[in-house]
Amino acid sequence: MKHRSITLLSLLLAAAMAAAGCSSSGSAASVFPSAAASSDPQERSGISNGNGDPVKHADSSAGTGHITGSDDSSVSIGDIPSITAPEAAGSVSLSPDSPQSGGLRIEFFDVGQGDSALLTCDGVSMLIDGGPKKASSFVFSALKKRGIEKLDYLVATHAHEDHIGGLAAAPHAADIGRAFSPVLTDTTEAFRDLVKALKEKNVSLEVPAAGDVLPLGSASVEVLGPVSAQADNKNNTSIVLRVTYGQTHFLFTGDAEREEEETILNSGRSVQADVLKVGHHGSSSSTSYLWLRTVDPKYAVISCAQGNSYGHPHEDVTSRLRDAGTEVLRTDQCGTITCVSDGKVISFSSEKTPSGDPYAPGSGVSSSGQKNEKKTSSGAAVSSGQSGAGSAAGGYILNTSSRVFHLPDCSSVKKMKDHNKKEFHGTRDEAIAQGYKPCGNCHP
Ligand SMILES: [Zn+2]
Ligand SMILES: [Zn+2]
Repeated sequence: MKHRSITLLSLLLAAAMAAAGCSSSGSAASVFPSAAASSDPQERSGISNGNGDPVKHADSSAGTGHITGSDDSSVSIGDIPSITAPEAAGSVSLSPDSPQSGGLRIEFFDVGQGDSALLTCDGVSMLIDGGPKKASSFVFSALKKRGIEKLDYLVATHAHEDHIGGLAAAPHAADIGRAFSPVLTDTTEAFRDLVKALKEKNVSLEVPAAGDVLPLGSASVEVLGPVSAQADNKNNTSIVLRVTYGQTHFLFTGDAEREEEETILNSGRSVQADVLKVGHHGSSSSTSYLWLRTVDPKYAVISCAQGNSYGHPHEDVTSRLRDAGTEVLRTDQCGTITCVSDGKVISFSSEKTPSGDPYAPGSGVSSSGQKNEKKTSSGAAVSSGQSGAGSAAGGYILNTSSRVFHLPDCSSVKKMKDHNKKEFHGTRDEAIAQGYKPCGNCHP
């Protein structure tokens, strides 16, 4: 039953997004998070949800279509493609898990090859990552445009440039309440820039502990990871957050890979989520089968750039998501993806900013932008200083077997076996310090 509902809903959402081209603004689809809450041990008592209850299905192909799904489902749809569902009969008790507020809004920004999401609830805001350095002006203007004078929380999930490069712009745009990072020091330029920008606002980084809970208006944000920030691989130091709003849950994983997923699962905290921000841009090193099965998301958001040289998202991950019946939304295809929850229903919309808009990171990752990125990447690899951020943006690809590192577009990268391939966002010197030799072909 549950699987059937999810599959139908997924298909319908896909149809709705496809009908809207996944790129036009204002498209929206909402779904009822069936079966979401009841499996959660943290849900307060008195709440039961529609686990197994019939969910109505919408026909996105027609403005006023009515279809009858399985069971007793029926459908209606207006001009905006939306999927509405009835409250599962007699199953939802409204307090205290139905927040009396204007909803939780999550924007997964299209920052090209990187990650950035803005969460707002009852006027309280949290920015999780800020994309690469070239997304700085976007981050700055995104906060300005939304009238955010104070960003209550700034989260640097981990010290990689594609996550924190653009974050340093946030303290220039708004006051900052608290700022979190898994570490207090890091040698990268992006990290130093962030610390410096925060210092100008008299804000110091804090290291959160697993189990910490931060109030975000009437939503709450629980820190699930890192359980320990002692990992050699910075991706596995990623701050992992689970956001709860009413009966809806959202999981933000940074670039956490299989190892961190495992430690979080072993910690015993609930990871279940309706919407999963897929770890590490859909790389095969993340979103393990067990993780996916436990999170059991209906929707997965992948943040990556069109035609990125890492091959994100990896086919292994997209097929795992497909097998799990999870609907995938990608920033490279949809642009910025907005998700709104009223505590029970989650709605999605997406917007692709027309290229040419100086505030749009999309303009930096258009077809011509892609070329620039690669150029910067190779340029930065042989220089340092100002273009250092560019190096990290493109990063290097390590061959963990031969211990050679390459530029992402090196022909040997394509031939490399997947299990030997590892993304590296540090500097050239750092790669060498870790025992890697520069490729004789691409001369990184
Ligand atoms: Zn990373
Ligand atoms: Zn990343």
